[in-house]
Amino acid sequence: MTVHFPFQNSYSALPDSFFARVAPTPVSAPRLIKLNRPLAVQLGLEPDMLETPEGAEILAGKTVPAGADPIAMAYAGHQFGHFVPQLGDGRAILLGEVIDRDGIRRDIQLKGSGPTPFSRRGDGRAALGPVLREYIVSEAMYALGIPTTRSLAAVITGEPVIRETVLPGAVLTRVASSHIRVGTFQFFAVRRDTDAIRRLADHVIIRHYPDLLHAERPYHALLAGVVARQAELIARWLLVGFIHGVMNTDNSSISGETIDYGPCAFMDAYNPAQVFSSIDEMGRYAYANQPRIGLWNLTRLAECLLPLFSDDQEKAVAEAQDILGAFSETFSAAYQAGLRRKVGLFTERDGDEALIQDLLDAMAKNQADFTLTFRKLGDAAVDDSADVRAQFMEPGAFDEWAGRWRARIALEPQTPAERQAAMHAVNPVFIPRNHRVEAVIQAAVNDDNYAPFEELVKVLAKPYEDQPEYAAYADPPLPDQRVLQTFCGT
Ligand code: AMP
Ligand code: MG
Ligand code: MG
Repeated sequence: MTVHFPFQNSYSALPDSFFARVAPTPVSAPRLIKLNRPLAVQLGLEPDMLETPEGAEILAGKTVPAGADPIAMAYAGHQFGHFVPQLGDGRAILLGEVIDRDGIRRDIQLKGSGPTPFSRRGDGRAALGPVLREYIVSEAMYALGIPTTRSLAAVITGEPVIRETVLPGAVLTRVASSHIRVGTFQFFAVRRDTDAIRRLADHVIIRHYPDLLHAERPYHALLAGVVARQAELIARWLLVGFIHGVMNTDNSSISGETIDYGPCAFMDAYNPAQVFSSIDEMGRYAYANQPRIGLWNLTRLAECLLPLFSDDQEKAVAEAQDILGAFSETFSAAYQAGLRRKVGLFTERDGDEALIQDLLDAMAKNQADFTLTFRKLGDAAVDDSADVRAQFMEPGAFDEWAGRWRARIALEPQTPAERQAAMHAVNPVFIPRNHRVEAVIQAAVNDDNYAPFEELVKVLAKPYEDQPEYAAYADPPLPDQRVLQTFCGT
């Protein structure tokens, strides 16, 4: 028996300038830490086979499975606003693509599987901690219903990686609807390779925006499509308190999925200016700055597409600006609709936006926990004594607001139970809180103990369900458990 991957590769059939052909570097002692069995099934893979020693060797990059066409993708990108003409997969290798059970093409990529021609000074490796972090947070995002890359597996390589200290090495198998980024277009734009930009745009349309194939102006429609998906994605992030942390253009996906879980984090207390990433000294990627940065990144994409719009550059620029103009509207519509659902409003009335903003302002002022405030507000829809107010440093700030909220919801016909159910369906109990993620990583790295990881992954798979036996996972950190900074995790 051998492990079978039903690869149907398309990206590796594009011109040679799009990637470098490179195989993963074999490692000494691969050990499977975690296989995402439901995802394996969804991808048409056999989970039992992936759990064999041969499966672990493939997932660690020691053996290349039949039908794989391993490549490292080329891309460029703006990192913290500074343009780097060549980045590329420095520690990731795309094994190939499969068509999943829903007919959707998915990349299967090994992250941490050895150096590539794009590694620059990096070692091409990943440490166990960041691999577990990406596994936990990406799967939590999926369970929350937010478009994201996913994690198929985590393996230990049996080899150390040298960071500030010596750490166990690991490989994450990442699954994405593609790994094409804004930076992929920038790679060709900076080289003035318009043919390649057109090839890439055509590939993206077929793969991610097939409805646009017969659009009158497909490349304009493509930009509009990416603008819409990114605007909606970033609204979803804000609605769960997610901070990406490194919204560089090379980490901005064309398909509209969340990609590259580095120093990302969910905030506990609501603070629009919140930053966790140790390298984001200016707060460029702070929580509330994310929509603005999203538009900035999309503007970089628009610049790449200008040569496809029109030979008249002035006209092309005007058309691009017009399309980019839709971002704010799409974002605001998605964000405001999401907020209305979070506070249990079924209809839209004048004054709603201000009412909700007043709650957010009071939460910020009173360091209210973002997740628990909204979750418990759902309980307050049925029970006056639900302890939302306890989330506020000065509980009176909530009481004042709650009176106005009760008057507003009384204008709608839904029963309290209906309102609570609707609110609980959008306000999670469980998010991957930083202190929990850190504790799981410490147990794995220091004690080779994966039980805490397994339990956290299990709880986060049902974020909207009260799971009374795991209630402690809903708690914010105690003062001494608070994680103040997250790291890029290379
Ligand atoms: P990121 O900040 O994760 O988006 O990564 C930025 C760039 O650095 C990408 O081109 C990565 O492939 C590359 N990179 C990050 N870590 C490593 C590493 N350990 N070895 C080689 N390349 C890396
Ligand atoms: Mg990246
Ligand atoms: Mg990264």
